[in-house]
Amino acid sequence: MPEATLCIDLLAVVRKNLEESLRRKEIRRLESAMADALARVDGALFARQPAKEREHIACRAGCGTCCVVNVGVLYPEALRIVRHLQQTLTPEALHQLRQRLGEMYHQTLGLDDEERLFLRKPCLFLDAAQNCSIYTVRPILCRSVTSANAEDCRDALASVALGEESPVLMNLLQKESWEQLFTLWGEVIEAAGLEGRSQRLVTALYQLLPQAEPEEIFWSGARWRSL
Ligand code: SF4
Repeated sequence: MPEATLCIDLLAVVRKNLEESLRRKEIRRLESAMADALARVDGALFARQPAKEREHIACRAGCGTCCVVNVGVLYPEALRIVRHLQQTLTPEALHQLRQRLGEMYHQTLGLDDEERLFLRKPCLFLDAAQNCSIYTVRPILCRSVTSANAEDCRDALASVALGEESPVLMNLLQKESWEQLFTLWGEVIEAAGLEGRSQRLVTALYQLLPQAEPEEIFWSGARWRSL
């Protein structure tokens, strides 16, 4: 196992909590298990990275450079975002979001990662100040993108248009830790007989937001394609 991964004890607790919440099929317990896991990973990363090292993370409020990529979410992550939106947006704002999701869904349908980048269309949740408007419930994979140099990110995006590749120096501890949590969650959910595969954020929300009780669909074991 590479050094840049989460410790076995932490993963065991995260697994146990998630398994328990899935067995009980209670959305609040599931959300609590997810919030607990996210806080544990945040805490572990903070403890393992000296302040000097953290200073080298370029990602911060006001930089949405990378928010033009395909982002994958697990079903419970999408449910968490849907609940957040329902609790924080007015009915009118929700209606407008559904319309914009529909447009984005059709514009990006079938695009691979490179084609999506080339489109240069920002995520619907990136606000005018280049901040993530769903920051507290943002997907795990958004958390995993931690660049050491914002200029590298801009160069990398520009080079896509030229058909070239430009490297981005990443914080591997952050990247691999969040990806490890993402993989673990997917495996545990799948082992519980539920949909453990990821879906594009836009597609997931386009499908789930209009549903009256999206969590009931999850608990039924429905797969993404049958929605
Ligand atoms: S959810 Fe937030 S962090 Fe993720 S791509 Fe969208 S705006 Fe960026």
